Amino acid sequence: MSTSYWLDRTKKIGKKNYDVIVVGAGISGLSTVYWLNQEDPNLKIALVEKQRVGFGASGRNAGFITCGSVEHFNRMISKHGKQEAIEIWKFAETNLQLLKEHIIQDQGNQIEFRERGCYSLASQDSEFTELKKVAQIMNELGIATETYESERLQKCVGANNFVGGIKYLADAETNPIALLNLLQKKIKCDLYEQTEAYHYEATPDGTRVLKTDAGDFEASMIVFSLNGYSPAMHNYFSDKIYPTRAQILMMEPVAAFMDGPCYANFYLDYFRQMPDGSLLIGGFRQLAKETEVGYSDHTTELIQNALHGFVTTHLPQYKDKKVSHRWGGIMGFSRDGQPLIGSLPEDNQIFFNGGYTGHGMGLAFNTTKSLVDGIFGREVPLWLSARRFN
Ligand SMILES: Cc1cc2nc3c(=O)[nH]c(=O)nc-3n(C[C@H](O)[C@H](O)[C@H](O)COP(=O)(O)OP(=O)(O)OC[C@H]3O[C@@H](n4cnc5c(N)ncnc54)[C@H](O)[C@@H]3O)c2cc1C
Repeated sequence: MSTSYWLDRTKKIGKKNYDVIVVGAGISGLSTVYWLNQEDPNLKIALVEKQRVGFGASGRNAGFITCGSVEHFNRMISKHGKQEAIEIWKFAETNLQLLKEHIIQDQGNQIEFRERGCYSLASQDSEFTELKKVAQIMNELGIATETYESERLQKCVGANNFVGGIKYLADAETNPIALLNLLQKKIKCDLYEQTEAYHYEATPDGTRVLKTDAGDFEASMIVFSLNGYSPAMHNYFSDKIYPTRAQILMMEPVAAFMDGPCYANFYLDYFRQMPDGSLLIGGFRQLAKETEVGYSDHTTELIQNALHGFVTTHLPQYKDKKVSHRWGGIMGFSRDGQPLIGSLPEDNQIFFNGGYTGHGMGLAFNTTKSLVDGIFGREVPLWLSARRFN
């Protein structure tokens, strides 16, 4: 992005000076501030957000805090090799542990946090065969899973027309905005909402200037925590993070009928029941991959009909319940499905994280911890480093 002569408000409102400026107040921006506070409580930090805390994907997601990745574990092994696949899975398990230890603590009830595990369901025999193989591999590695044949599965998740599934026992779920609010209470920074960052400049004395619609911010370093919005900030991200839309449909509350959140169809679709009984169904972007991209969060008839069709097929007893909400949000997909952290090749004081590929609630807290490790000269895993794309 750029700033015009007419939009530049610096002269009117002066400059603001900080040690670090973090841009984007979703789960990853708030978490970045948290780890910077832990590193040095004296750092003066500005958190700059175009709209308000949680306006992006962090306030629009389904609230799954899942381990692992965007695909079945056997496929992760094929892509990354066994050791790296285990490392990625353990990294997400650590993410949840860190969230519990540092943020959630004894406030679980207030943020609707539940550790009930998460199911992965198959509607085709071939996927169930693959899932059983996944469960075997994972159990041998000490990652706890359980396998469910269709009848037992129906009793646990109340859904029809699935041939079977597996349950990852370590997964959790939450109210995403409540988690963000809790995280926000634990950080120390000056928060500037309704402040859109345009671009940054480096001055000869090493100061980085962030141009925003509320004037200039100065600091010695900037961190972009923009996930799906990253390519709009800088071209570097245009072949690394792809803005990708996801849509959700929410139905009015019904009596509790499922004992854990569910993914289906190779992680592409998902559903869960809220503590108040509301039913959330998401996914189906695979039906319109070419249009479910970009920065618009509107919903479409095609995807919303498919989400309702899912209810008719798998949860027919609720198909006539009222739809209470429909929404969309922008995710940041990376080239290999894993997040990326690093600094810009042209400026080693401009840092970033993003590319969570639909799993930032399960990854961002630990990812930003690694980012702060990197900023302060400690080693970071290569699978997480943006250098893997060089
Ligand atoms: C419908 C949907 C369902 C999902 N379900 C899940 C799930 O169940 N579990 C899970 O783990 N993940 C899920 N995700 C993905 C998850 O929400 C994201 O991975 C995560 O929220 C990314 O967090 P973030 O802070 O990096 O980005 P965001 O939350 O998108 O935050 C980026 C922020 O930057 C701000 N911003 C943008 N441009 C500028 C600018 N120029 N200046 C200042 N600020 C700017 C935006 O307003 C936004 O607040 C889902 C996503 C969607 C959309």
